[in-house]
Amino acid sequence: MINKLITKTLPLFPKSFVYLFAKKYIAGATLEEAVKVCKLLEAKGACTTIDTLGEFVNSKQQATKETKMSFAVLDAIKENSLNSYLSIKPTSLGLEIDIHFAYSNIKRIVSKAKEMGLFVRLDMENTPYTSKTLDIYKKLRDEQFDNVGFVIQAYLKRSMDDIKSMSKFTPSTRLCKGIYNESPSLAYKDREKIRDNYKELLNYMFENGYYTCIATHDDLLLNYAENLIKEKKISKDKYEFQMLLGVTESLRAKLIANGHKVRVYTPYGIDWYGYSIRRLNENPQMAGHIVKSIFTRK
Ligand SMILES: Cc1cc2nc3c(=O)[nH]c(=O)nc-3n(C[C@H](O)[C@H](O)[C@H](O)COP(=O)(O)OP(=O)(O)OC[C@H]3O[C@@H](n4cnc5c(N)ncnc54)[C@H](O)[C@@H]3O)c2cc1C
Repeated sequence: MINKLITKTLPLFPKSFVYLFAKKYIAGATLEEAVKVCKLLEAKGACTTIDTLGEFVNSKQQATKETKMSFAVLDAIKENSLNSYLSIKPTSLGLEIDIHFAYSNIKRIVSKAKEMGLFVRLDMENTPYTSKTLDIYKKLRDEQFDNVGFVIQAYLKRSMDDIKSMSKFTPSTRLCKGIYNESPSLAYKDREKIRDNYKELLNYMFENGYYTCIATHDDLLLNYAENLIKEKKISKDKYEFQMLLGVTESLRAKLIANGHKVRVYTPYGIDWYGYSIRRLNENPQMAGHIVKSIFTRK
């Protein structure tokens, strides 16, 4: 109760205060800090995907700036020989403004990545952008860019149709539960229903040879996925696990120890605020722990 209250009232506090709660989930404000964190994660046996924080951009100027920031991430990955790739949010590249403008920014990023031998994943945002993001992915694939992937959200009722519609590409797909607040007409709200849909989607992806990124911290789903991998003899080049920076680090270590590839989503940037508030809303207990540690610090 108190944790929920803390999380709900956080937006009323100055950003510097919220940062105390948020810093666990972000690599820092600068790309240099993100590179350092990626190197630390690699030393622990994980690989990474870097995300420049920023979303729902509504000026072309800002979207162009974000595009350049993505170029800088690709350069940093190459220069530091990181085992990493880039995750991008289509709205930060102009999807809210105009799909053609966003497509041209995303194509420039994917094209540069392709020249560098790097991969780019389109994160999935809320439902006004689902079809548009999938259309962008399809267009990129039709234009012969094979270094790009997308995300499927298990809470969405449409997801099985979406994933089936991609079969001709045998795509690289990240499967997550979904984080935005969607209407019950579009999304399952029941925890078990979301898990069931996650399992069905996972089965479909494995059975159809998709490169499958199992993005969850839910130990029930993690166990299910590990068993499925064993049962279906899924080879190591067909899947990986993915987790968020700062979340369930012991589970991450266990998966690595079990011989699985694990990628950590590593966000950085000055626009850490919206991302962090979503993370804290996801897990109000965390807010309580942090408050305790702040007030009991000697
Ligand atoms: C690599 C990655 C990429 C993602 N990309 C997207 C995306 O593109 N679009 C999208 O909509 N969503 C994305 N998500 C978020 C995802 O949709 C879920 O909201 C989020 O992962 C929480 O769901 P869960 O499967 O971990 O299960 P939950 O049931 O929410 O969590 C399971 C357990 O994990 C722990 N946990 C979960 N979250 C936290 C936290 N913040 N702090 C501490 N412990 C926590 C708790 O112990 C919890 O009981 C991504 C998640 C991951 C891991």
